[in-house]
Amino acid sequence: MTHVIACLDGFDPAYLSATETPGWDRVAADGSTGVCDGVVPSLTNVNNAGIVTAEFPDRSGVTGNTYYDPERDERAFMNDASHLRCRTELQRRAERGETVAALVAKDKLVEMVGQGCDVAASAENPPEWLAAAVGEPPGIYSGKASAWLLEAAVYLLDERDLDALYVSTTDVVPHKHGPDEAAAEQWVGELDAGIAALYERSDALVATADHGMNRKSVCVDLEAILDREGRDAEVVRLITDEHTYHHRNLGGAAYVYLRDDSTDALGWLDDVDGVDEVVAADEAARRFRLPTDAIGDALVLGTESSVFGPVEDGVHGAVDLRSHGSHHERRVPYVASTGATLEHNVEAFPGLEG
Ligand SMILES: [Zn+2]
Repeated sequence: MTHVIACLDGFDPAYLSATETPGWDRVAADGSTGVCDGVVPSLTNVNNAGIVTAEFPDRSGVTGNTYYDPERDERAFMNDASHLRCRTELQRRAERGETVAALVAKDKLVEMVGQGCDVAASAENPPEWLAAAVGEPPGIYSGKASAWLLEAAVYLLDERDLDALYVSTTDVVPHKHGPDEAAAEQWVGELDAGIAALYERSDALVATADHGMNRKSVCVDLEAILDREGRDAEVVRLITDEHTYHHRNLGGAAYVYLRDDSTDALGWLDDVDGVDEVVAADEAARRFRLPTDAIGDALVLGTESSVFGPVEDGVHGAVDLRSHGSHHERRVPYVASTGATLEHNVEAFPGLEG
């Protein structure tokens, strides 16, 4: 049995409805399709960790692209295996003697996602033998990087006797282009051709996404707002990673760590324009299955059209970009050749069992 999981980065349901997808439709006709919930915060690393471990952050341990350690007052990117609190599904399979492979866009994610894999590679820095076979990768900020990853996945399925393969693409195109733009249609067409090719080579295929994508017009400076209120707080914007080209580190989710001893909750913050919800840590842990020890005092979520970030003058600024991170980008499509019904994208691996 060859099991394939594809995580199509930033594949908002709107992209699926806007473009013809004969490959996806064929899998759906033989199996099932629908829209399910991704993990909140709706970020790449959180959801990749969720899908490969088949766990929510309270067990996977990955709570953002960035992690804040209040004791040391230090920040770290959550992209290496030290942040994982459980084994990945790929690791569990490898330990059972299966041959497993993982392909991801960014080199940093190889370490986290590729635990225990026989082959673990990135489009950013692939091994020579893979680049020789599939072609030099187009660069991770290229619209073609996702197609390259799916071609590499097809090559591995043809050349290796794999029991399980995980392939995760990049969201550089949906960050830049709305569903009706030609570049997005081309990207969806390439994803769809990849899905069709993977389906031909697998006994069971589940494709889903890590998060959706929305157009954002307002930037809210949470640090400045808390400052203005005289609060001593650390705002950890969760989309922040080392790859600022496509999202400029502007997303719709942040953890707030209060340094003052005030027991005053942050409830007043949700009256601020561009703040949709302030969820106290205990409630956020329950609602989104987050670990209480790694999310500060509150999770702050943006609106469909807002992101959090620095503003030059004042606390609100105009922006024009496409981004994610909040619960508004939580819904993602899925297709499963097994006929499985997914409530959450983290069920993609268990869904393979049919
Ligand atoms: Zn993503």
